[in-house]
Amino acid sequence: MLVELDAPLAPLTTLRLGGPARRLVTATTDAEVVETVRKADETGEPLLVIGGGSNLVIGDAGFEGTVLRIATTGFELDGTVLELAAGEVWAEAVARTVDAGLAGIEFLAGIPGSAGATPVQNVGAYGQEVATGITEVVAYDRRAGETVTLANADCAFSYRHSRFKADPDRYVVLRVRFRLEDAGGLSTPVRYAEVAKALGVGQDERIGLRKAYETVLGLRAGKGMVLDPADHDTWSAGSFFTNPVLTAGQYADFRGRLGERTAPAYPAPDGCTKTSAAWLIDQAGFGKGYGSGPATLSTKHTLALTNRGAASTEDLLALAREIRDGVRAAFGVELVNEPVMVGVSL
Ligand SMILES: Cc1cc2nc3c(=O)[nH]c(=O)nc-3n(C[C@H](O)[C@H](O)[C@H](O)COP(=O)(O)OP(=O)(O)OC[C@H]3O[C@@H](n4cnc5c(N)ncnc54)[C@H](O)[C@@H]3O)c2cc1C
Repeated sequence: MLVELDAPLAPLTTLRLGGPARRLVTATTDAEVVETVRKADETGEPLLVIGGGSNLVIGDAGFEGTVLRIATTGFELDGTVLELAAGEVWAEAVARTVDAGLAGIEFLAGIPGSAGATPVQNVGAYGQEVATGITEVVAYDRRAGETVTLANADCAFSYRHSRFKADPDRYVVLRVRFRLEDAGGLSTPVRYAEVAKALGVGQDERIGLRKAYETVLGLRAGKGMVLDPADHDTWSAGSFFTNPVLTAGQYADFRGRLGERTAPAYPAPDGCTKTSAAWLIDQAGFGKGYGSGPATLSTKHTLALTNRGAASTEDLLALAREIRDGVRAAFGVELVNEPVMVGVSL
């Protein structure tokens, strides 16, 4: 277990933003994770758990407490059952399942961060989300002071949300178990129109597993959604805003403001409608590359707020607020941030 004092946090985030941690603990075993969490809870020490830092906006003042960096390793495949330690690099784990000829998480290729964080916001992309494949999550329950195993149904997964996100100070994920599928070298059915179009296949068709994986990686790279240290368009936290889910009343109001335009609309649970945050941002006047300061929109994707190299967290937040306020004024829709804010808010 490595313990560092007054440790910079910016290099541990994909945005490269945020001040120092008073204390940074890097844990490489589940026992070290649990011991660190227990000690912090016993002494009332503020605790921040991090994995790959790809969904975090840390304030310029840093974190006055202990930051626990989970760096555990473990990739165990037994037939179609996969168990990942929380610290495993997600994108590498996906690649290994494709190498093993198993379908289930192939469309989640290239997503940065750790396996342990994937259930937290129910990571998803290109028509797939981890909630579909997860069978169990093993976590340390800080309230009960013990390690628990939560079945999928107990994780309250929904769009970019879960029980872990709803109750952020309660669970520290240690292991995630998945049920994958041996479809004879084929992918799960293609659910996403953009992928189907890129491959020239119909939706719900299965395609070669490796083809699916590589197609997604190509689409993501074209949008700056695969990490590349040399490309500032990838110095982001991915999508900065979630796609708004509007109630029937909100949707009627929204449509009333559209005039001649047609906005993307997808059915969502409980009679709601999901629309596209990227479309709203673009139509409100914030195109790709918008901004002239040290934080701008990505030149490849309207939804990614990026650090061009010399930004502070306050620079990034100023841009985020300008966009949120602009979308509200144009469409009456309130954008909500997807990344977790530490010591700051929009
Ligand atoms: C270029 C880019 C593209 C992205 N594309 C996508 C995408 O397509 N789809 C998508 O869903 N997301 C995407 N993201 C967001 C991000 O990659 C995911 O949310 C990822 O799962 C975060 O993992 P992490 O380990 O980096 O988490 P961190 O950023 O380190 O932490 C995020 C949150 O999870 C908590 N956390 C982390 N590990 C644990 C643990 N073991 N137990 C409990 N809590 C924990 C943290 O406390 C924090 O609240 C993208 C990000 C980037 C930078």
